[in-house]
Amino acid sequence: MSSVWDYFKIINEQKTKVLCKMCEEKLKRATIKRANNTTNLWQHLEKNHLDIYLKLKKVNNQPKLVVEENNKIVRLTSSSLSKDAVDKIIANMIVKDIQPLSVVNDIGFKQLIQAGFPSYSLPGRKYFTNYLSKMHEQKVQELIKILSQVDYFSITADLWSSIKTESYITFTCHFIHNGELYSVVLETREFPVNHTAMNIRIIMEHVFEKWGILNKVEAIVTDNASNITNAVDQLLIN
Ligand SMILES: [Zn+2]
Repeated sequence: MSSVWDYFKIINEQKTKVLCKMCEEKLKRATIKRANNTTNLWQHLEKNHLDIYLKLKKVNNQPKLVVEENNKIVRLTSSSLSKDAVDKIIANMIVKDIQPLSVVNDIGFKQLIQAGFPSYSLPGRKYFTNYLSKMHEQKVQELIKILSQVDYFSITADLWSSIKTESYITFTCHFIHNGELYSVVLETREFPVNHTAMNIRIIMEHVFEKWGILNKVEAIVTDNASNITNAVDQLLIN
């Protein structure tokens, strides 16, 4: 059975400092008198590693109360999730399932949330628009930090058109960090100007610079269109 201690380790002799194995943040732990206190470890998980928090809570969350209602057994569990945690679950759902933000106004969704989290008051679409944009900015900063610790990148780049024939260019970067291979979409942006080699090179430079990897790109994989291969030649040779 997993426990909260699978994700933290004690780092000083007094056992007052703890390292989160996932994000390497150092946390203070309650004093020795209350040596078993894991409250702030739980808080750290809930705030920063919600998936793990929920996994552990599921293991630890035995039904609190079993009642019989019309010959049916109803198990009641006390949901102790904070408003922040439920906000985050909903935002994650919108991202992972690529849902429109208007899902939070849908009647069925509202009922589901009310049933699952009776004490939570569901905010509207504007709130989540704002929430997701902050979440995006935070993820960008996290990624920039990781990229800064890596020396070599390869890139996949492609120009493509939407069903409405609008042009886009997408960059994915591939790298090894702490022995693991990552492939991350850096960005997809609209590309309405002429698709000349020069314009492609300018946008490539701009994107790589923004992510702090311009001088660390070792290879760029594209299709065989001459504009993009010329752009890559220009960029990598310079
Ligand atoms: Zn952490």
